[in-house]
Amino acid sequence: MEIWDTHVHLDELSNLSYAVNLALRHNVTHWVLVATGPVAYRRQSQLLATLPSYSLRYLRAIGLHPEYDHSPEALLETARIVEQEPIAAIGEIGLPTYRFLTRSQFNRNWHAVYIQLGWAERKDLAVIIHAVHEATEPMLRILEEFPNLHRVVFHWLKAPRDILHEIAKRGYYVGITPDISFYPRDRHLLSLLSPQRVILETDSPWPHIGHRISSPAIIAQLVATLNQIAPRSFDWMGQTTLNARRLFGVSSDL
Ligand SMILES: [Zn+2]
Repeated sequence: MEIWDTHVHLDELSNLSYAVNLALRHNVTHWVLVATGPVAYRRQSQLLATLPSYSLRYLRAIGLHPEYDHSPEALLETARIVEQEPIAAIGEIGLPTYRFLTRSQFNRNWHAVYIQLGWAERKDLAVIIHAVHEATEPMLRILEEFPNLHRVVFHWLKAPRDILHEIAKRGYYVGITPDISFYPRDRHLLSLLSPQRVILETDSPWPHIGHRISSPAIIAQLVATLNQIAPRSFDWMGQTTLNARRLFGVSSDL
C-alpha cells in the first residue's frame, strides 16, 4: 500500500512524530515536504534529523511562497539550497491572491517566479504552483514562456472551467484536497478532470473542515471519498500514486 500526500509544510506541524505515526498507520507512506523559503527549509532539516528512522519516505521542495514577504537575500539563499541539497521540486511559487502587494513587492515576486522557473527548467525539476482564482490565468501565460517544463502541478486549484481545461490540455497536474468532501465547487472541479491529472494533498497543517488537526493521515480518507464519488469502481489510490511518481520523476525505489 502506498499513498502520497504531495503538499506538507513539515515545519508547521505541531506534533511531528505523532503525525508521522498516524500517517503510516493509514498507509500515507510518501510526503512531499514543501518549504516556503530558506528559513522553513532549514527548520525542516532540523526536524527531519530528530525523526527516528521511520519508514516515512519523502521528497523535498523549496520556493518563495508568493503570499509571504521575503528578505532581499531569500532568493540567493534559495538558489544555494537548490544547488546543494537533494531538491525534487521548486515550489510553491506563483502569484498571490490573498494579500495586497505594493508595486515593488509585485515586481520582486514576478522577477523571482521567472528566476525560479528557470532553475526548474535547467535542473529538470518538478514545479509546484500556487496561483488560484484570478491568479491562475496569468500564471498559465507565464508558463507558456517555459515550454520545456512539463512536470507542473497547480496546487489546491480553484479556477474557472476554461482555465482548468487549458491546464489539463497542457498535461499539468491539479492538487485535490480533503475540502472535496465539503465544497460542491471542488467536486465540480474534480468532475472536469481526467483521473490521470489528479494528485492528492493536505497542505498540512491547514485545518480542513471536519478535521480539528489536519495532518497527512487524512489523505487516506480522501481516497475513500474519491472512491465513493467516482461513478464506477476506480483505483484512485493506484492512479494518484502513479501520477505523483510521474510528476516528481520518482522511480520505484523511493
Ligand atoms: Zn502550501
